[in-house]
Amino acid sequence: MEIADRRAVTIHYTLKDDGDKVLESSEGREPLTYLHGVGNIVSGLEKALTGKQPGEVVKASLAPVEAYGERDEQRIRNVPLRKLPEARVRAGQRYRVQTDRGPINALVTAVKGDYATVDLNHPFAGMSLHFEVTVVGVREATAEELEHGHVHEPGGHHHH
Ligand code: ZN
Repeated sequence: MEIADRRAVTIHYTLKDDGDKVLESSEGREPLTYLHGVGNIVSGLEKALTGKQPGEVVKASLAPVEAYGERDEQRIRNVPLRKLPEARVRAGQRYRVQTDRGPINALVTAVKGDYATVDLNHPFAGMSLHFEVTVVGVREATAEELEHGHVHEPGGHHHH
């Protein structure tokens, strides 16, 4: 079965930056299963995988616009320390922050006085990404998965 919209796709993947440094990899772990065609993975990778079959190896180099977008200086903000969840805030910490567009990860880049400088950009924003993907499996998604917009794999997903 080939990869198409509304199918659950299982992949092993390695993600590298321009300097050939591994940023993420499923090697030595469970493969990733996702619902194809609904934005569970970055758009450029969805495009590169469409039509591929189990056993195929796909290499895709993505510009930021096809991956996590460009870095946006508007997404770097000064936030009062009292609005952050931890008592002791340090540079380098990450927080899950609720926004009107859903939860995002925020990185504290500096702490000055009663304020922390927080970067809301995705860690891979502004980067060209190089994927090497092995397609492990493809199956039809269940009606429930399509309704939820994500797959229900054993151990791979839990509801809030
Ligand atoms: Zn669900």
